[in-house]
Amino acid sequence: MKAIAVKPKTKNSAHLVEMNKPKVSDVKGGKGVLVEVLRVGACGTDREINAGEYGVAPEGFDFLVLGHENFGRVVEIGENVKDLAKGDFVVATVRRPFGHSIYDTIGQQDFTTDSEYWERGISRLHGYMAEFYVESEDFLIKIPPKISEVAVMLEPLSIIEKGLKQAEDIQKRLDIWQPKTAAVLGTGNVGLLTVLALRLRGFEVHGFGLQEPKGYLNADLCKEIGATYDSTKQLSVKDSVEKYGEYDLIFECTGYSPIIFEAMESLNENGILILASVTGGTRKTDGVESDKINQEFVLGNRAMVGTVNANREHFEMGVNDIALAEAMYTGWLAKMMTHKIEGLENFEKAFDILENSGKYSAIKTYFEVAKI
Ligand SMILES: [Zn+2]
Repeated sequence: MKAIAVKPKTKNSAHLVEMNKPKVSDVKGGKGVLVEVLRVGACGTDREINAGEYGVAPEGFDFLVLGHENFGRVVEIGENVKDLAKGDFVVATVRRPFGHSIYDTIGQQDFTTDSEYWERGISRLHGYMAEFYVESEDFLIKIPPKISEVAVMLEPLSIIEKGLKQAEDIQKRLDIWQPKTAAVLGTGNVGLLTVLALRLRGFEVHGFGLQEPKGYLNADLCKEIGATYDSTKQLSVKDSVEKYGEYDLIFECTGYSPIIFEAMESLNENGILILASVTGGTRKTDGVESDKINQEFVLGNRAMVGTVNANREHFEMGVNDIALAEAMYTGWLAKMMTHKIEGLENFEKAFDILENSGKYSAIKTYFEVAKI
């Protein structure tokens, strides 16, 4: 079978490889499920791995098959698979509990304290940019056929679900928390999904991005589901408080770390700031009003939390949200899926779009590996 692989830590090494088709017996205990990949999303993580920034090949290989945003169909199951059958649609989770931390041993590998990760398509495990993969049913989420067209969005959405679940868990410290307004910093693929998830929860949502709203599809998509959109070139997050009031919840996914200090200053009493950008650079921020920010956090019982990865429960929350989104905002998610690449062999096109997403006005780029 065909797959898209990279030579980890080597710039622009994406290439097609021919591999043996995996077998259900590759997973021990009869729990293996053979999945035909139908769609696989491509994102900044794939771009950064192909740029040689990170990524680790599995033991015994000098290449890593890319791909973590996946959607497929079950074609064969092992004798002890209970909850899935041939023909079912599935999405696989990404991180595996192969580390040594106590969180790995209790199945909360998204909270691992290890510095090594086992993540399909990213680190130490082959990914889903292939015609088939095999996985234990423990790591597969069943997808209702009615949301199959947009289910490739589940993996990115799972990251947001985890962030919002963290916020909810932390805010249980308040016996009564009735949040009304939220700001979403960054309106790319992740930001738009966050705007959606918060609208589904009834928040008044204010999205912020760099680009000016005119002719910007992402801004139109915010407005289509009742959120606002502002360019930070015209209205800074800090100044937006004059217009919209302080925010009960802020979700940061810009990749631009200085904005977190503005976000800290724009939070309401008892509010919570969720940080979800992996900023791999070396940027430092001068002129931070640290006394003021600290005092506001203390006197206002404000909270801030970092979040990464997602576990099975967050994927399951995401399935519910996608179903609700299709009911409330029918067709909206499909509008985010702007660029379809037919066939894995056209991977160069996908990377060109990822590297020039502005030029292409791309929100989500994905491969159609086989027809639904
Ligand atoms: Zn991704």
